[in-house]
Amino acid sequence: MGKIGFIGLGVMGKPMSKNLLKAGYQLVVYDLYQPAVQELVSMGAEAAGSPGEVAEQCDKIITMLPNSPHVRQALLGENGVIERAKPGTIIIDTSSIAPMAAREIAAKLAEKQIGMLDAPVSGGQAGAEKATLSIMVGGDKNVFEECEPILKAVGSAVVWVGAIGAGNVVKLANQAIVAINIAGIAEAMTLAVKAGVDPEVVFQAIRGGSAASRMLEAKAPLMLGQKFDPGFRLNLHIKDLGNVLETGHDVGAPLPLSATIMEMMQNLKADQWGDCDNSVLVKYYEKLAGAKVTGHCDK
Ligand code: NAD
Repeated sequence: MGKIGFIGLGVMGKPMSKNLLKAGYQLVVYDLYQPAVQELVSMGAEAAGSPGEVAEQCDKIITMLPNSPHVRQALLGENGVIERAKPGTIIIDTSSIAPMAAREIAAKLAEKQIGMLDAPVSGGQAGAEKATLSIMVGGDKNVFEECEPILKAVGSAVVWVGAIGAGNVVKLANQAIVAINIAGIAEAMTLAVKAGVDPEVVFQAIRGGSAASRMLEAKAPLMLGQKFDPGFRLNLHIKDLGNVLETGHDVGAPLPLSATIMEMMQNLKADQWGDCDNSVLVKYYEKLAGAKVTGHCDK
């Protein structure tokens, strides 16, 4: 079994790479942030000085980077993977990026006989730590099957969803639904407060009915407790909604709800809430309504 490359050792990439080491894979790692690299080296990984150096040593390379420009830079930029990868190398990009960007990058790599899967994940930091991520994978089905054991070392639900780019289309659909769901919860809780009913009572009364959802369970307690430590940072959700809207415009799908929530999030970012959990959307409604959504919540 050859060595696996891992580029991007942040909130998600670091625990994912630790799980690959635990599963017995040999890793060559790279990140701009040296302390993260050193942490992995102390656990048995080898360090590389550039994405190109990773490519020299590995025939499968995972990337877990913030957005499309970072993935482009690491794969196609100066000292990037494309400069030194051998034909037959496979890139597994687990970052959440624009589907069009995934397709463009894959086409450039294909010119050098380098394969690519787009394999964004869902499940957050906790899922990355416990190796229980849901992974939605786009790309050639045979390449997917070849890489499935690697993905199963970091995730518990690994699903092939179609051709290259499809992984990120599925992820964007997920992110749009989550954003709309959170905004709906914030809107309803603000209505309850202004109409004189304790939002905690609302939560307890409706959580078993038809408004029940995983987001209601996860985010209402954070809103009621005014606890906005991330979780999933608002700035990352803004990045995802940017990709949602760009993709919608590219393919001719109007997305009025996502567009509205994007502007709500931009307003919160301007008010310095960008590094908070996305449940901070409730602060937008509080400002509009001149009310505070608080309640006691033990769940
Ligand atoms: P992060 O900012 O914590 O980590 C990104 C890492 O990439 C950092 O360590 C940074 O130094 C490194 N980096 C940036 N540019 C680089 C480059 N050119 N070369 C090498 N390293 C570079 O981000 P994260 O939370 O780990 O998220 C990564 C991706 O996963 C994002 O696309 C995000 O949307 C997605 N995601 C995040 C979560 C979550 O809960 N955090 C959940 C699901 C999906």
